Amino acid sequence: MASESANPSSSSAGSYSSLTIGVLALQGDYDAHARAFAAAGARTVLVRKSEQLAGIDGLVMPGGESTTMLKFLEQNGFFAALGRFAATTPCFATCAGCILLAREVLHPPQRSLGVFDATVERNAYGRQIDSTILTAPTEIPGGPLEMVFIRAPRITRVGPDVEVLARRDSFPTLAREDHLLVATFHPEMTSDTRVQKLFLDMVASHKAR
Ligand code: GLN
Repeated sequence: MASESANPSSSSAGSYSSLTIGVLALQGDYDAHARAFAAAGARTVLVRKSEQLAGIDGLVMPGGESTTMLKFLEQNGFFAALGRFAATTPCFATCAGCILLAREVLHPPQRSLGVFDATVERNAYGRQIDSTILTAPTEIPGGPLEMVFIRAPRITRVGPDVEVLARRDSFPTLAREDHLLVATFHPEMTSDTRVQKLFLDMVASHKAR
């Protein structure tokens, strides 16, 4: 859907209650994501087992620690099931989630689902103490967006079908490829729900196909 408008108020805003959004709840700040999506009007469910992927319209993969999430995913076939899910169904992956979804992970190299056509460098902006909040213009209408970076990865390459919606310096911080949305910052840590609504619009149009 790279050709679609990035306007989160352009379609089904206000009718998100028919959408069930799963939040991967193995580790990290899944609770904050669940609250943010509930505030945006969606039904939310915490996903801890691969079987639960069957009942959701879209999945949020939160920030946290990607190495720890990988350890959980490597049990009971969850990694393979998540790869199959993400290949066809909307996912919104932030920070550690973005690292899991990317085609290639560096610094150091790490196993990933490989479905989002990008190269991601872990901890590229330094340590926890170098975490920062920036406010910058984006492709999303409604004015500049506050972006919270916490030991953030950096997207250093994107494939030809990836649409970049926001940047830090010249590097993508919010990007979309077909049914997948990734962010290297934490939209769930601000009260602005425009990024959640953008994802919910992607989920709604995917469901209506
Ligand atoms: N540094 C973490 C990792 O490599 C990501 C940090 C985050 O999700 N905020 O997994």
